[in-house]
Amino acid sequence: DTIGRNLDRAIEAWPERDALVDVAAGTRWTYAEFGAAVEQLARGFMGAGVAKGDRVGIWAVNCAEWVLVQYATARIGAIMVNINPAYRAHELEYVLKQAGVTVLVASQSHKSSDYRALVDQVRSGCPELRSVHYIGDGSWDELLDAAGAVGGRELADREGELSCDDPVNIQYTSGTTGFPKGATLSHHNILNNGYWVGRTVGYTEQDRVCLPVPFYHCFGMVMGNLGATSHGACIVIPAPSFDPAATLHAVERERCTSLYGVPTMFIAELNLADFTTYDLSSLRTGIMAGSPCPVEVMKRVVAEMHMEEVSICYGMTETSPVSTQTRRTDDLERRTGTVGRVLPHIEVKVVDPVSGVTLPRGTSGELCTRGYSVMLGYWNEPSRTAEVIDAGRWMHTGDLAVMREDGYVQIVGRIKDMIIRGGENIYPREIEEFLYGHPKIADVQVVGVADERYGEVPLACVILRDSEDPLTLEELRAFCEGQLAHYKIPAGLRVLESFPMTVSGKVRKIELRERYGA
Ligand code: ATP
Ligand code: MG
Repeated sequence: DTIGRNLDRAIEAWPERDALVDVAAGTRWTYAEFGAAVEQLARGFMGAGVAKGDRVGIWAVNCAEWVLVQYATARIGAIMVNINPAYRAHELEYVLKQAGVTVLVASQSHKSSDYRALVDQVRSGCPELRSVHYIGDGSWDELLDAAGAVGGRELADREGELSCDDPVNIQYTSGTTGFPKGATLSHHNILNNGYWVGRTVGYTEQDRVCLPVPFYHCFGMVMGNLGATSHGACIVIPAPSFDPAATLHAVERERCTSLYGVPTMFIAELNLADFTTYDLSSLRTGIMAGSPCPVEVMKRVVAEMHMEEVSICYGMTETSPVSTQTRRTDDLERRTGTVGRVLPHIEVKVVDPVSGVTLPRGTSGELCTRGYSVMLGYWNEPSRTAEVIDAGRWMHTGDLAVMREDGYVQIVGRIKDMIIRGGENIYPREIEEFLYGHPKIADVQVVGVADERYGEVPLACVILRDSEDPLTLEELRAFCEGQLAHYKIPAGLRVLESFPMTVSGKVRKIELRERYGA
């Protein structure tokens, strides 16, 4: 169905229930009120001249208006372009031009970011950009006022023209392995995925979902917003950007039943000095995704945050995003050792990355997925699309995985991160997990660097627990001796203060390779 028609059903079924709460702003909407606000904004966009298929950019931190823009653009068949709030002028200009954005909605400022000044810097280079509306100032009110010129009949006519296979969104990948790619996604792609993710965690209209994850990324806007509204649940926004204390405060105040985050967010919440003072007894479930979760963290999330049913998801922006998910009754081993089972209506196979032959269960190879969730393609980049989606509509994820006998999938690492030393394949994660056990190491990333003799060798980049207590390569190698096969023992060591990260919370290994690789 289209996102607009799906929302109508929730409004009809649960008009008086909460749809959206913005804790920081102190505002809240029932489904009936939310529906009316979405309709006004949809008519406002039409009044501002937004036609079907036009690209509307959203460059904002989390707030209620972000969610209104998401549903209002979907309602009128515009294509919303999610722009990362951490971007600076150069990246903003690239996205505005690449997607051909004509109308932009932006935050005014947040922390050290002055969005208005950055837009001013690039505006002359983006001739297609007709208008910019800043949330909370007169230019936003102008957009709402433009609704006056558009009747309910015109909106209904527009909605009648829409199909669930129309593109509704351009979402950029995290940029972990290179420059982000814009995945074009349809109503059917993301609404269906949000619905199934929500159904797998058992959402009903009684649920209240706390979302400290950025809306610009699929985790927030699909698994969060669409996951909630497709089941009549409530979206709770704790703060404009991640803040562990504000998150727990929102859970307590709004009696949230579900909480989302990447593992590092849960770690920050558990490590708050006043953690035990928050009443989290309303929590039942939540979603952890994006990168692997350490066992100790998972144990604490289950026991101390009451999230007995917390769910692990694996996916990628290009597949709307989720392909596999753990179930409500899965045990700790499945929640930490695997990324769950394949969701309904999605197919998965594991293939030899070179020959493309399907491999048996228990063998590692490239994970490929197929089904309703595969994106329409990268926006305006047919040749890059053809590199990842084959003639049989299989999406080649670039991730190495194993499907176990019990149907649960394990992610081994990314093909791009695999190190090939003199013909031996090395998975960095295996070495990293071993090195986490070294008493001096707080965090570690292993990357391949060029070597004359072996082609490539592993380099360990580490953050030390105590910078006064140095670590030498000899010490590190002695620690590995007899524990790891000789070719996996790091040939080099770099001590760093921090790792280069993406906004969605992942380490950019590519940057470490570029720095130290040659
Ligand atoms: P880019 O494609 O721009 O390099 P990216 O792949 O990190 O960046 P996303 O689409 O946000 O961008 O992330 C998808 C990737 O995240 C997957 O391909 C996979 O490598 C990783 N991933 C997602 N979920 C999990 C998980 N539960 N466990 C391990 N890895 C995961
Ligand atoms: Mg990717």
